[in-house]
Amino acid sequence: MPKELVKIENLTKDYGRIVAVKNISLDFNEGEIVALLGPNGAGKSTLMNMIAGYLSPSNGEIFVCGKSIKSDPLWGKEHIGFLPEGAPLYADLTVKQFLNYMAELRGVSRDKVNQAIKLANIEEVLDQKVETLSKGYQRRVGFAQSVLDDLPILMLDEPTDGLDPNQKKHMRSLIAKMGKKKVIIISTHLLEEAEEVCNRIVLMKQGEVVADGTLKKILSKYKGKTLEEVFFKLAGDKGE
Ligand code: ADP
Ligand code: MG
Repeated sequence: MPKELVKIENLTKDYGRIVAVKNISLDFNEGEIVALLGPNGAGKSTLMNMIAGYLSPSNGEIFVCGKSIKSDPLWGKEHIGFLPEGAPLYADLTVKQFLNYMAELRGVSRDKVNQAIKLANIEEVLDQKVETLSKGYQRRVGFAQSVLDDLPILMLDEPTDGLDPNQKKHMRSLIAKMGKKKVIIISTHLLEEAEEVCNRIVLMKQGEVVADGTLKKILSKYKGKTLEEVFFKLAGDKGE
């Protein structure tokens, strides 16, 4: 049996009148590469930020490697590598300073920093301040930060956002190779990305899960329809 690494029970988040995540229950297991797929505003980032412990739920519970993060918030952070939406914090540090600082905070050795730098392919910008980098490079620095230590859960919020087509390809092949001992959860509004990289798709619309399974399983319910057609029917968006 694959290990259950993340378990979500009846999770809800409202921002006043907007309910961004509505009573979602899901399990994520070792070996899965999951796409949280859905149009803008579907609730993907809100869900990830709660799992990462950045946002507290309005209701419901999250278990990371068997333990509730409500009772032990640090536990989640010790087990999840996370690339949040947008640019890394500490924009006035250089890339090298930023990564060394993050490594120090987490007790990760310098070799690991070098490995992450290589993996993210950011050698040429190490001495540049994070705030001066293009969006694509900022995403890659964020990615390097998320893989500094080899944690069992890797969560990437729109990992290819801002990357050019070549960099997108590179990032997708990296994710696909990241290892079978983990669960990798990525969010994307790009169908092709979910299709290419992931072995499970969780399709979200307006804070709810409207389909969950392998691509094959999801499509089998809609004989003769393409993924685009099914995605449009379920999530009301062509996904670009
Ligand atoms: P996604 O990542 O799928 O695009 P989000 O989780 O960012 O979706 O947003 C889900 C919904 O919650 C949207 O309607 C968005 O406008 C709303 N939302 C997100 N963050 C906030 C916030 N800090 N305050 C108020 N509403 C928010
Ligand atoms: Mg988002």
